[in-house]
Amino acid sequence: MPMDYEREKVITVSFQSVKDPFLTKLFEDEYEFFGEKDEYVDDLVHLEDDENDIFCSNSVHDPTIEWNLMEPKVGEKYQNFSQLKNCLINYVVAHGYPLRFEKLVSTRLVARCGRDTDKKECDFRLYASWMNTERTVQVKSMKKKHSCSRKFTFGHLVSPQWIASHLVKEIVFNPSIKLKELRELIRTKFKITLSLSKCNRAKHKAMVMIEGKASDHYARIWDYAAEIQRSNPGSTVQVGVNLNPDGKHYFYRFYVCFHALKTGWIAGCRRVIGLDGCFLKGQVKGQLLTAIGRDANNQVYPICWVMVNIENKQNWKWFLELLSEDVGVQEGGGLTVISDQHKGLLEAVKEVLPNAEHRQCVRHIYADFKKSYKGEEYKDLFWAAAGCTVEPEFISVMERLKAIDVGAYEYLMSHNPSSWSRAYFCQDCARLNKGMSNSNATKVDEFVNQSG
Ligand SMILES: [Zn+2]
Repeated sequence: MPMDYEREKVITVSFQSVKDPFLTKLFEDEYEFFGEKDEYVDDLVHLEDDENDIFCSNSVHDPTIEWNLMEPKVGEKYQNFSQLKNCLINYVVAHGYPLRFEKLVSTRLVARCGRDTDKKECDFRLYASWMNTERTVQVKSMKKKHSCSRKFTFGHLVSPQWIASHLVKEIVFNPSIKLKELRELIRTKFKITLSLSKCNRAKHKAMVMIEGKASDHYARIWDYAAEIQRSNPGSTVQVGVNLNPDGKHYFYRFYVCFHALKTGWIAGCRRVIGLDGCFLKGQVKGQLLTAIGRDANNQVYPICWVMVNIENKQNWKWFLELLSEDVGVQEGGGLTVISDQHKGLLEAVKEVLPNAEHRQCVRHIYADFKKSYKGEEYKDLFWAAAGCTVEPEFISVMERLKAIDVGAYEYLMSHNPSSWSRAYFCQDCARLNKGMSNSNATKVDEFVNQSG
């Protein structure tokens, strides 16, 4: 019988190796290999030669089964060594025995118990190699039983990549999960304890899996622009790029104004535009500059937005030139602009929309005022001053403030009241002081995220 022949051959070779110290030294690797054959000769699993393909049990590994049900078997086939390695890691984490890869080269994999690195007292061992007859990795032999006790520390075996691939679903549903919560989740799910820095690396890897690499997204920015123009004809999309010394184009800025939004604003919104910027806090940093209006229900009406590296005069100017063309407000005649006191923004508005009435966002002024003058009385007087409809009323409110605190009075008077008190507004823009808040950019950011 061929089986008997194989068995006999193994024993013979083993005998020669053990008896010959020179050959033992020279072929250390092979000696160990055949020596083990001798030791395991009673184990049914090892009746087969490690190098021969196994045909009696040839199940194919299913990578879609639950991670904790994965179990390597003698004769099981794998696409490649990394698939087998992943199966082994899942198996040892689920069963609480560490593992080490004694050999992991392009042709074969030898895994042993990770508890005793030198003594080799534990019997666990797995050998896999490419099949001779096909391009498939097969487990050729395995001594599955551990003679050691269980241990739930796996060191570098459990990599951030491994954790990320197992927790990607949880992180999709809760991307703002705190590291301590993540560590607790890992402890519950895998019964292992990790350092916070490893949890952090795992979370980062998972975010990359979810969002893809930023460079991949940026590489498709032209496709995105073309798709907007195809699906929303009449929209304006501008991609700004820089040509770097390495000859490659790098993303610089991105402007978008949907056709429906600009025509909607022209047809049905007051001639008022709020301008504001906010920081992007996702994987990619930068700033979002927005232009928003108010619709007939006094709700936020996004007009257009731009993504830039930084909020400065140059970027605001570029944005306002495109905006004024899109919504037909050349020179800003009859238009009211509301914004904070960002220097670059003020200068850009002056240059691009010289005829617009420029008002300050009263919430921004109050936020600064509050830093020095806290309290309900200051607050009431401030909002009363902002909401006055005629100048004498404004003066009377300010006199009341002056009687309480001259410093507060002087602070507000030095901030150009004609740009934030309704008492000085022309009729067209008299309903704006509370309406346009400084969180508009954040709202547009949410809007973009939801629609994206
Ligand atoms: Zn063991």
